[in-house]
Parts: sequence; C-alpha cells; structure tokens
Amino acid sequence: MLSAAITVPGTALGQDKPKLILQITVDQLRGDLPTRYYDRLGEGGFRYLLDSGIVYRNAHHAHANTETIVGHTTLATGTHPSIHGMIGNLWFDRETGFTTYNVEDSNYRLLTAGADVDSDTEIDPTQRAARSDGRSPAAIMTTTFSDELRSNNGGESKVVGVSVKDRGAISMAGHAGTAYWFSKASGSFVTSNYYLDQYPGWVAAFNSAEPAQQFAGTSWRLLHTQDEYLFGDTDDREWEADVGGFGRVFPHEFGDGSSPYFTTWLTLSPAGDRMVLEFAKAALVEEALGADDVTDYLSVSFSSTDYIGHVFGPSSLEGEDNILQLDRTLADLFAFVDEQVGLDNTLIVLSADHGGPDAPGYLNSLGIPAGYVDPETWESQAAIDRVKERFNIAGSLIETYAHPYIYFSTDVTKNQQINQQALESAVVEELSKFPGVALAISSSALRRGNLPDSHLYRSVVRNFNPKRSGEVYIVFEPNWFINDFDGLTVASTHGSPWQYDTYVPIYFAGAGLPSLVTTRKVQTVDIAPTLSAYLGIKAPSGSVGIPLAEVLKGRPVN
Ligand SMILES: [Zn+2]
Repeated sequence: MLSAAITVPGTALGQDKPKLILQITVDQLRGDLPTRYYDRLGEGGFRYLLDSGIVYRNAHHAHANTETIVGHTTLATGTHPSIHGMIGNLWFDRETGFTTYNVEDSNYRLLTAGADVDSDTEIDPTQRAARSDGRSPAAIMTTTFSDELRSNNGGESKVVGVSVKDRGAISMAGHAGTAYWFSKASGSFVTSNYYLDQYPGWVAAFNSAEPAQQFAGTSWRLLHTQDEYLFGDTDDREWEADVGGFGRVFPHEFGDGSSPYFTTWLTLSPAGDRMVLEFAKAALVEEALGADDVTDYLSVSFSSTDYIGHVFGPSSLEGEDNILQLDRTLADLFAFVDEQVGLDNTLIVLSADHGGPDAPGYLNSLGIPAGYVDPETWESQAAIDRVKERFNIAGSLIETYAHPYIYFSTDVTKNQQINQQALESAVVEELSKFPGVALAISSSALRRGNLPDSHLYRSVVRNFNPKRSGEVYIVFEPNWFINDFDGLTVASTHGSPWQYDTYVPIYFAGAGLPSLVTTRKVQTVDIAPTLSAYLGIKAPSGSVGIPLAEVLKGRPVN
C-alpha cells in the first residue's frame, strides 16, 4: 500500500502553508464530463485544473447511495456514510415516526422571512419532505476538514460554504463554519440562526441588489453556434422534462420574473452557478478570506449541473452547453481568486458529490438497456401479499421507500410476535425477483456482516448506519432508476453503486503543485485527510481515507 511511505515535504508546513483552501464541488459532475468536451474548453477554467494540476482520472465514491448529501458529507469528512451518518437525502426517523430531510432542524429558523421551501413549486422532492424550515449540520455525526481547520487554531481560520442547495453548503461548512445557500422562495442567499443571529452587512447588501431578479427578461442561450455542439441537432428529446414551461429547446426563457418557477428555472441553467459565483466572490472580499497568513477555507458547491442532468440528462444539448458555461464560471472564479489571494497561495480541490446516469431514452436509442422502476407499486404485488399472510401482517408492511431503503411500518417493526430477521429475509427473497432490482440486502444481514466480499456488497456496508438505515437496501439494475420525483417525471436519477454514479473527478491545483495525471484508483474519502495532512493538522474524527501521496509530495509516486 502507498500509505506507509509518504514523506510530507517541509514546504507544505509552517510559513509556506496556503492562505486559502478553495474546495469546489460540482453537483453530478461525472468524471468524464470535463474531458468529454476538452477540445472546446476555454482558458483558465477546467483547463487550468487539467493542464496544470494533479488530475485523478480514476476517482470514485466508495459508498452505494450516491446522493447529494451523502457525497458532499463524504468529501467534507473523509469517511463513509456508515460513519458520518448521512446515508441518504432522506431517511425515516424511527423516534419521531417521520421521514427526515438530511439538514432540517426544527431547533433553528432561517434568518429571512418568506425564504422557506415553497412546496407548490419546489421540484426537489427531498426538500419538500422536510417538516421544518430550520437548517443545521446537527445530523452530521463526525467532524469535517473545515471543523478541524478551525479547531486547530481556536477558530482563527475563517470557514464559509456557499451553494444553491442548503445541503451543498451546510455539509462543507461543517459544524464550526458558516453556510449560505439560495432560497428559491425569496430569490436571495440565506442562512439559519444556527450560524448567525443576523446577516453581516455585505450579505444584506448582496441580497438588496436582488441577485435573481437581474436575470428577469433574459434567457439561457447557447454559448456557441448550435452546429458546433455534439448534441447540436438533437435539442428536442422526448425524455427531457419541461419544468413549468421552461421548455425542451433553446433558448430557455426566464420570462419577466413573475412566474412562480422563475427562480427554479435559474437553478436549472448556468444562471444558478453564476449567482453562486458572485456570492462566493463577495464572501472572499468581505470576509477577507485568504487575506492573512492564517489559512481560511471557502467551499463553493455548484448545483446547476445536477438539476440540468436530472431534467435533460447529461448527454443533451443543455448538458453540453452547461459544461462549457461552467468552464467559464470556473475561469472567472480562478481569475478572481488569483487577483485577491494569488493562485500560488491557494490550494484548490475540485470534485463531485456523485456522477450520474444517462437518460434511458438516450441509451435505448443506442441499443443499450435502460429503464425506470417504481417502488411505490411493490406493496401491492401478490408476492408481497403472500409474505404478509405468512407473517400475519394485516396492515401495511412498507412504511416508505426512502431511496435506497425500504422502511417497514413501525407496527411491524415493533411487533414482538414477528421474527424480524425471517421477515426481512422473506421480503428480500421476493424483491430480488422484481424487474429492475439487481440486489436486495436486509439490514439484519448487514448487521451480522456475513456477506460476500464483493465490491457491490462492500459499498452497501459502507452506507449502512444502524440508527438511520431501513430494513432492506435495494440496488437497481445498471441504468434502471426511479424517474418519478413526486409527480415530476425526470430524465435521469443518480443514487446507485454503479460506475456512472460513483465516478467523479478529483483535481488538485494551485499552491505551486506540479502538473500530473494519474489513473491510480483513489476514493473521495481521501480528499479530507489529504487537506489535513497537507496542513499538518489532524484528520476529521471519522476519517478513513488515505492522504493522496501525489498532492503531499507534489510529484508522482512510483
Ligand atoms: Zn448531488
């Protein structure tokens, strides 16, 4: 193993430590997407990372449920969901009897009135499931790299996380930093009183300028002429979703700002990332991040790639243009950081919370099997009826399917007459035969731990947390997934242990790092302990990753 022989060079410690750690997360940026369009990338964006940084071309998440909070928290903590506890965007809480959204916290409230989730127009079903509008990182069970940075020096290091998504900002800012995210309801950047009692003046000023409204009367237009695009002649595909009239073809008009979907459309386009970029720039200047010799931390999580992937699929004209526009957004960010802090004083790491599949319609058009499944129909199947009869279950067996887990009804789990292990086994046996299901694994089997030693099973074990996981873990067949987002039919959904969902970029750049490309297989849990080792501070409390030798040594390891 590589871990034994790493020597940290003296230049990484002491006075030469970077002034700023810039951690960029691109939501749903599958590992191949930046290089797929390499020939049309501009200068200073992805090419800055790809051409002058340390590029891991075979990096994966090691857990099975490749969802947003799961991946972000893994990047932040350097450990698996079994340990950091964020096993899914949603889980069923046995204590409260309700399905819980990962960063909801009824002990807190948002600082902005009217910024709560608008369930009429919210297209993110996990947000809609939240019962409280308060938000905090309380459910994250271990420390983050950003927590360790602050606890190392009594809080002198400043830590800021920003994203369109609450969970994209909160996870990375950790317990000790400050998170800001975009409220579609208020069209402004918000936080909760977990972090602050009132907004700093610069945030209030930023919001007074109405960051969303500036896009009223504009549209999402292609960056280049349409015939230059790989998907230039296939803009209108039947599997693409039309969200509230945003349409399936360019230009995608934002309208005059009066539509209830106006801010949703911004997040479904490169405009969402531009708003996050401008907020990040303001934070950098106003919080004086990287301005002195104490290392600060800025996390920027860009969400547009994810929303566009869900609605249009990654292999769409929208998906293609988005990557080229994201490239410009990154170039803008890097140029600004260079001006303010200097890229030589900044250690940049870019990765993704998960990859993403192509739309089944796209794959089918090429002869590749793919399709959709609907777990909501499972309870009514005859096979499940027979299981219920066998175990004398009169009411419902399944409380909810909160991806990727089936949670049994509390009446069932509390019933002492039922042999829970036998019931789980019986359900697993039947579900395993259902179309679209590759694997069903019971929690009792995961607890016992006597499982086949395969990559797939290990990834499910890494996702298992006894306090939050459900009774049965479901793995769908490759390229089969749920497309019903509580009524909104989407093109594709991530959340599997298959390669297209686990494969992400890991790029390190800046801080004088050399240019290097490696196909050595590495994991996303390696990032946080790498940052810790680079600074000579301790790794996050649950970290299991191995510091990346290439980054610490600044040269290849043979
Ligand atoms: Zn995501």
